[in-house]
Amino acid sequence: METMFWDKRNETMGRPALEALQLKRLQSTVRRLARRVPFYQEKFAERGLKPADIRTLADAQKLPFTTNADLRASYPKGLVAVGPESLARLHTSSGTTGKPKALFFSRRDVGNAADLMARCLTMTGVTRQDVLQNMMTYGLFTGALVMHYGAEKVGCLVIPAGPGNSEKQLLLMQDFRSTVLHITPSYALYFAGFLESKGIDPRRDLALRKAFVGAEPYTEETRRKIERTLGVEVYNSYGLSEMSGPGVAFECAQKRGMHLWEDNYLLEIVDPKSGQPLPDGQRGELVLTTLCREAMPILRYRTRDITAVIARPCACGRTHRRIDRITGRSDDMLIVRGVNIYPQQIEQVLMAIPEVGRNYVIQLEGLDEMTVRVELAEGGFDGQVSRLARLREEIGARLRAEILTKPKVELAPPGSLPVSEGKAKRVIDTRKL
Ligand code: ADP
Ligand code: ZN
Repeated sequence: METMFWDKRNETMGRPALEALQLKRLQSTVRRLARRVPFYQEKFAERGLKPADIRTLADAQKLPFTTNADLRASYPKGLVAVGPESLARLHTSSGTTGKPKALFFSRRDVGNAADLMARCLTMTGVTRQDVLQNMMTYGLFTGALVMHYGAEKVGCLVIPAGPGNSEKQLLLMQDFRSTVLHITPSYALYFAGFLESKGIDPRRDLALRKAFVGAEPYTEETRRKIERTLGVEVYNSYGLSEMSGPGVAFECAQKRGMHLWEDNYLLEIVDPKSGQPLPDGQRGELVLTTLCREAMPILRYRTRDITAVIARPCACGRTHRRIDRITGRSDDMLIVRGVNIYPQQIEQVLMAIPEVGRNYVIQLEGLDEMTVRVELAEGGFDGQVSRLARLREEIGARLRAEILTKPKVELAPPGSLPVSEGKAKRVIDTRKL
């Protein structure tokens, strides 16, 4: 496929020029924060740090981290670096616990986020001919709006469908011949099941070509399952509200890791425990600094997302480094009977078993009991109880090989486990430990 660019000069800039640009932007961000934001003024003072101390990109390591807790503590307007006349949009993070985080955009920030999103879309081959059905939650959440404006910029017809109401989604898809979906992995799997139950074969009956899938972690096995059952090519899409939402990193047509827009973000991988930098290729916590943000610049944000940098050049010609699939958050790790387990390990096992359907829940209860509840695939149950017992045994054995402890396995009929409209809730932990 011929490479298409939205902003070729910036996307293919040589590394030395790109790094010089990063340094200039980092210095100007630090100077602005030192003038305008008390939170950072205090942090700089604690370290005896002056903006002039940032002379090279490596000096970024002298800068303080910003954590999730810092953002919550600064709610509602603590980290804003501009006057009220310059604020153009408010988003909050969909965080499920405690106070939300408030994220502010200036007019220029809104435009920048849309530009980065437009780069992402063009990178996958989307053009103004495409019809994009946006099945993410509209509202305070950044997911839908940032994609919406990016796709409008490319010139797509955008359908602001929002999530849920599968009957209506299908009508929109049929009547307006949607070619591209923006959707969470959990809803994509659910929706594929819905189409199957309606006797719709997406390859025969719909015009879908691509799906941008993100907002929650998923595995390669899940990607393949969505590609197979929805008849689309799946591109991994990564973003977070603290960094303006989706469009931070996205897969190109090579689909081997996500280019992270380094002219807008400074990228580091650190050891989640010590905070020390890790070399390219090693997995650790992604730390991001905004380089162009006007209303609310953030230094060295601890995303808690676990990934690694892929430094080798990409065949598409873009020079911005890629990050590998996110394998979960550093705080996602479960400890069950003394064993460390990431929910992604369980998903990987389940989605590779053909008889397993589209939804699962990990329940932790009592004194450290783990139950994995799994939906069967449509047509996966022919009434033979002995086959079910064998399947349950097999799932249990495969899980034990991966996570070194054998959970209880329960099989559920297709479509019977709860689906959420926003992000999937995969782990229910009611243990009294
Ligand atoms: P919240 O932090 O409240 O969930 P956000 O919308 O800001 O709200 O979610 C951003 C988070 O979603 C990321 O930090 C990451 O954990 C997860 N995420 C987003 N896209 C992906 C993706 N493609 N793969 C894995 N995780 C993702
Ligand atoms: Zn590429």
